[in-house]
Amino acid sequence: MAYEAVIGLECHIQLGTRSKMFCGCPAEFGAEPNSNVCPVCLGLPGALPRANRAAIDAAIRLGLALGSEIRGESVFARKNYFYPDMPKNYQITQYERPLCEGGALPVTVDGEERSFALVRVHAEEDTGKSFHPERHGDRRVSRVDFNRAGVPLLELVTRPVFRAPVECGAFLTALRRLVRWLGISGGDMEKGQLRCDANVSLRPAGSEPLGTKTEIKNLNSIGGVMKGLAAEIERQRRVLEQGGAIEQATLLYDADREVLAVMRSKESAHDYRYFPEPDLPVLVVDEAWLAEARRRLPELPWTRAARFASEYGLPPYDAGVLTEQRDLADYYEACAREVDEKLASNWLMTEVLRVLKDRGWTLAEWSERVPPGRLVELLKKVAAKELPGPLAKQVFGWMVEEPGGTGELLDRHGVRVQATPEELRPLVRAVLAENPGPVRQYLGGKSATLGFLVGQVMKKSGGQAAPQVVQELLREELEGARRGC
Ligand SMILES: [Zn+2]
Repeated sequence: MAYEAVIGLECHIQLGTRSKMFCGCPAEFGAEPNSNVCPVCLGLPGALPRANRAAIDAAIRLGLALGSEIRGESVFARKNYFYPDMPKNYQITQYERPLCEGGALPVTVDGEERSFALVRVHAEEDTGKSFHPERHGDRRVSRVDFNRAGVPLLELVTRPVFRAPVECGAFLTALRRLVRWLGISGGDMEKGQLRCDANVSLRPAGSEPLGTKTEIKNLNSIGGVMKGLAAEIERQRRVLEQGGAIEQATLLYDADREVLAVMRSKESAHDYRYFPEPDLPVLVVDEAWLAEARRRLPELPWTRAARFASEYGLPPYDAGVLTEQRDLADYYEACAREVDEKLASNWLMTEVLRVLKDRGWTLAEWSERVPPGRLVELLKKVAAKELPGPLAKQVFGWMVEEPGGTGELLDRHGVRVQATPEELRPLVRAVLAENPGPVRQYLGGKSATLGFLVGQVMKKSGGQAAPQVVQELLREELEGARRGC
């Protein structure tokens, strides 16, 4: 029997706010352990939480971007369970009336435009962090750092809309792009800024009822999510094909060893006792707040990609690559307004992105060295064929290392572009004399031969001739020859 996988994701997005969700402690990463704590995030008696407006605002903006419905009134709840890294013995989250409901994330999967529906997005707080076990002399100890306890999180839950791990990978990539685009989170899975748990079940292909699902936790990279899911789908398929039954369980995926391990079975599943948080008032988001959040919402990445395709005539692939990061899209537009749009796209996607990758630079670090205007000056010369391609690439290389405009760089490196008919005509005549075959072909009507002849002149000039001038001179000489014969 053929089986179909049904997958739903639960993602946690750590917000990049300055302070924690319910107190004023810094939410920074990497501070001295247990230094960013106070009575509220340590859960000391009598401490009163207060919701962080910037975190709620981030949740609203994400909800608006996803087309979710934003509730005017939502409530916080206590999710009760015991864990050593959670000093209050409950987590403040949202349960029955979450801030954002519904919505969908547009995602490109294998070149196809899809949209994956969401159940909800709500605000909550993170737990602390345990380190265990560590060896101290002859003892093995566990340690807890509460700096992370109370850091703002958004929880985003999808409907069971995915049928394959590759769709989940594309979804997480798109979600990471979106949270970075909105400036609400670093979105780095390796740093725990974006985390993902997955629910997966199998059912006979074409049937409606859902099978028993398992949950995979600890998926801390996009590749890990896809591999973990593929492993679990394969495991369930084998069990079902042998006539067995899937048992509800929570699994942990070990990315290093690429294996799944059972963390807890149904019998030991948590029974969270949710109840409304009595220390926090109903969270009210009025029309003015919503309108203001809507006004500050940037043009969204998928809208911008569509506009790049229509306004600049870019292929969908280019539009997708250039909108992977908001500052890359900004950089591109600054160039495309000044110079041929496709030429700018080609240079950004190949040359600029290659340098970024090789050097490990961010686009901000790149723009500091090469602001759009500097690149545009070079690209204008390429577009006008005033600079041969290889020489343009050479100038680009110098640009990365040194200050100065295109002309200055050429001078500094002692390269002079041969661009006058006087200096190029002898080269053109020599090439025509050396290539009687191609010349005959050209005169016989095969105009594509011109490209070959241009290449020969370029070679003779040591790559320093302006191709536009070479092309004009060749045409002139060849027309002269045509009239002559
Ligand atoms: Zn605190």
